[in-house]
Amino acid sequence: MSILVCGGAGYIGSHTVKELIGKYEVVVLDNLSTGYPFLLDDRVTFINGDLGDEKVLDLVFTEHKINAVFHFAANSLVGESVEKPLMYYLNNVSSTITLLKKMVEYGVGKFIFSSTAATYGIPKTDLITEETATNPINPYGRSKLMVEEILADVAHAHDLQYVILRYFNAAGAHELGDIGESHNPETHLIPIVLQHLLGHRDKISVYGSDYDTIDGTCVRDYIHVTDLATAHVLAYEGLVSGDVSNEVYNLGNGAGYSVKEIIEVCEKVSGKSALIEYADRRAGDPSVLVASSEKINKALGWKPKYHLEEIIESAWKWHSK
Ligand code: UDP
Repeated sequence: MSILVCGGAGYIGSHTVKELIGKYEVVVLDNLSTGYPFLLDDRVTFINGDLGDEKVLDLVFTEHKINAVFHFAANSLVGESVEKPLMYYLNNVSSTITLLKKMVEYGVGKFIFSSTAATYGIPKTDLITEETATNPINPYGRSKLMVEEILADVAHAHDLQYVILRYFNAAGAHELGDIGESHNPETHLIPIVLQHLLGHRDKISVYGSDYDTIDGTCVRDYIHVTDLATAHVLAYEGLVSGDVSNEVYNLGNGAGYSVKEIIEVCEKVSGKSALIEYADRRAGDPSVLVASSEKINKALGWKPKYHLEEIIESAWKWHSK
């Protein structure tokens, strides 16, 4: 039996594949729109294709005995989703419906879904639990929440059990230094700051300095990508053992850091100083997003291992290579 990892050549997908490999057979389906084959281990069966393509899915499900699907393949940039909503609904919602339809057709009944803190919108609380109301304020968050709702209906009607993982801000790189974050163009804060400190960018634009936060810049909860990866493996094993089913869990460190604080830690880790310019707010950005991950800790024993400085150290090692 194999696990199908859709989007396994991407940033979070490839780190999860690394945790699975050696323990499970892994098939990766990725159209390489944002992923890279060099992030994949030789032991993975790689299929270059689109999950919205029924023929590709027929091939995957007939040629391999798949017992679970991990679904990372999606567009995931808030700003871009505001500019290109149709692309987001097509790739994130429509393609996922096709995937679920094929899973039902081939009797594949376990699904781990990558969701996001963006489903919460502008929460009215400082620490977000899974009980916090969802009210996304951008197409990216809405596309993920739509799939969450579709999943509940599909699980009700068919033999399918799922775990939804709502990531906060994924960051860092594998401790072996062989895989890490590689977006083109890069839009995420930590890689942008590190690229600047390495001399690849003139300056850092800080989007908004008038938020209602400790220093006026946005606050986020940064979580190491390997911590995200291990949560997927635990969720899968929880589904297989029957300990959990049809659940949603937050994944974060439970601590918020402002954009300015992140820049300071990057300066400390690199030993270099940054040039900052203050720019307008970025469309679709809430001011504060910090997770409570108590629910997954209680259900599956998941606990993040890496704290902010270690996250940035691992990213610095990767970007310096
Ligand atoms: N950000 C910034 N400058 C940049 C990139 C990001 O000020 O060049 C801010 C962004 O507005 C947000 C935070 O950094 O408040 C984290 O953004 P990122 O894109 O890394 O993740 P997101 O929170 O959008 O998932």
